[in-house]
Amino acid sequence: MARKKRDDEMFGPVCSFCGRGLDETIVVPGPDGVNICEDCAHQVLDIADEARRQSGGILVDTRKTYAKKSQNEAQAPAKPEPLGPVPSPRELKEFLDKYVIGHEATKKILSVAVHNHYRRLESSAAEATRGPEFADVEIEKSNILLIGPTGCGKTLFARSLAKFLKVPFAIGDATTLTEAGYVGEDVENVVRYLWQNADGDTAKAARGIIYIDEIDKIASKTDNVSITRDVSGEGVQQALLKILEGTVCRFPPKGGRKHPDQEYIEVDTSNILFICGGAFVGLDKIIAERTDRNVIGYGAAESGASEEASKKSGPLDVRPEDLVKFGLIPEFTGRLPVVTSMSELSEDDLVRVLTEPKNCLVKQYRKLLAMDHVDLEFAPEALRELAKAALARKTGARGLRAAMERIMTDVMYEGAGDQGSRKVVVTADMVKEGLK
Ligand code: ADP
Repeated sequence: MARKKRDDEMFGPVCSFCGRGLDETIVVPGPDGVNICEDCAHQVLDIADEARRQSGGILVDTRKTYAKKSQNEAQAPAKPEPLGPVPSPRELKEFLDKYVIGHEATKKILSVAVHNHYRRLESSAAEATRGPEFADVEIEKSNILLIGPTGCGKTLFARSLAKFLKVPFAIGDATTLTEAGYVGEDVENVVRYLWQNADGDTAKAARGIIYIDEIDKIASKTDNVSITRDVSGEGVQQALLKILEGTVCRFPPKGGRKHPDQEYIEVDTSNILFICGGAFVGLDKIIAERTDRNVIGYGAAESGASEEASKKSGPLDVRPEDLVKFGLIPEFTGRLPVVTSMSELSEDDLVRVLTEPKNCLVKQYRKLLAMDHVDLEFAPEALRELAKAALARKTGARGLRAAMERIMTDVMYEGAGDQGSRKVVVTADMVKEGLK
């Protein structure tokens, strides 16, 4: 009750049956602080129907008729819209260049993989027009695994691709899948988010992109997979396998527990592009053992090697057997045939992240202050100090925003809202002082 009361005060009423709040569902407040959400109300009605039917009561249930009708509608085969022209790998890379700094090799690999993926959709649509030579050739799906430290732009890659292709996009977090008791349902939830982002359009969702973050966290904790395996992690890998490969995924439109008589949405995942990402800390050592050379790659800074050496060596040369040794089951790595590794962003890269992308932080703050007639400028050394701070915190580009927020509080306090126009230059000293 204590939890409920606190929630009530902070977030409004929560359902007294399932504990969910207004952020997840519609909650109808009742007397004496007892509330019920839309989904639980439906379940109560279903239970009452069943009870009445079993007891021989006569029931005219218009709601049920409606549920059946919408279920039929939901299950009607969705007609896919024709695909637009498939962008060339070069076009895809040019677009990525506008949003993502660095990672040249990954950009190329992703551009080709995504191009092939959408060509594959096209080929299945135009199968009848192909000659006999390719009639039985089915191009397999190329899901992608992005390996790189936190804040280097893995999610940004997936998000940018979805934006360019104008397909729905959803992000799932593998760690939440591990924590759930009922794993299978949660895995399907990732597809449900995509369907929701496609405004409930099943055909659109079936061609979307799903990014699953922290995929390394569902690895078994030892390379001796068969004896001392992390059952929960492996369980999630097993559950994800089918969805990654392609299956008809069933889920209740509003989520929650499954129960008989419920309306279900079906989305075929065969043409959904899955991009999985993770930091895979320690993978560099596994690769070094294999190749019998010094530890290099994005973890190099941690292990003492110079940044210069890590830059020269470039991204990791990852093989499927390294991922298996890390704790992914072989079938799982088999579903992620395109693997690319990204290095930690360097200080120079971080300065570019601040100033170059279309929606970079410097442009955002300049715009914000321009509304108050302030011409904001950053001294080059100030940008470098910000990059150094993010690098020291090992948060990648993710740390830039927090650092920027801290130093900008004073600048905005002093500069915004004043009458008349003026110029403000953020200096290296202001950054150092602000980040103390
Ligand atoms: P990851 O998924 O690798 O942990 P994100 O993609 O979530 O990192 O990055 C966090 C934020 O940092 C992004 O929203 C973006 O603003 C910025 N960022 C990260 N990497 C880059 C990059 N290579 N180029 C431009 N911005 C980046």
